[in-house]
Amino acid sequence: MGVRDMTERECREVLARGNVGHLACVHDSRPYVVPIHYAFDAENIYVFSLPGQKIDWMRTNPNACIQVEETGELHLWKSVVVEGTFRELPDTAQLHDERIHAWSLLQKRSLWWEPGSSKPGTGSAETEVPIFFAISVDGISGRELLAQAAPV
Ligand SMILES: Cc1cc2nc3c(=O)[nH]c(=O)nc-3n(C[C@H](O)[C@H](O)[C@H](O)COP(=O)(O)OP(=O)(O)OC[C@H]3O[C@@H](n4cnc5c(N)ncnc54)[C@H](O)[C@@H]3O)c2cc1C
Repeated sequence: MGVRDMTERECREVLARGNVGHLACVHDSRPYVVPIHYAFDAENIYVFSLPGQKIDWMRTNPNACIQVEETGELHLWKSVVVEGTFRELPDTAQLHDERIHAWSLLQKRSLWWEPGSSKPGTGSAETEVPIFFAISVDGISGRELLAQAAPV
């Protein structure tokens, strides 16, 4: 077995196939990572959320990171890391079209809204204002575990 670096195109293909990743953000030098659903349109990664810690932290520090993986037979895997920037999509006239675009991409996946609209003890938090946000793809890298040794 061997590990190889993936091309940018291969990394983007993994992002496009997937819909679950791990979102990392940082505040006062403290990291925080949570699983999220996302949709990727080749430029941005879109996410739906309720208000909470990750939103507060990214509003303060927009530097974010998303990791997505695929696993296969024989414990083979592909893993992609995106370094990006948080950009909130409030329901304003200026951002209306992009917000609808994010919604239309996300709603293609069944129950995409459910984890992002739930908080402990409340079931679904229907009274809270839903937040759509984008993470830009500022940098991307990927590694793949191969069944055979990677060529040198
Ligand atoms: C497969 C999957 C998909 C998900 N998709 C989405 C999505 O698309 N959008 C979305 O907003 N959320 C999604 N979630 C839930 C997400 O992981 C967070 O739990 C949720 O968004 C709350 O995050 P918050 O920062 O607002 O936490 P808050 O409600 O503000 O709570 C912060 C506190 O709770 C703890 N905490 C929060 N979330 C978790 C967690 N997942 N595991 C352990 N401790 C936690 C933190 O350590 C912190 O102490 C998904 C979860 C899973 C498992």
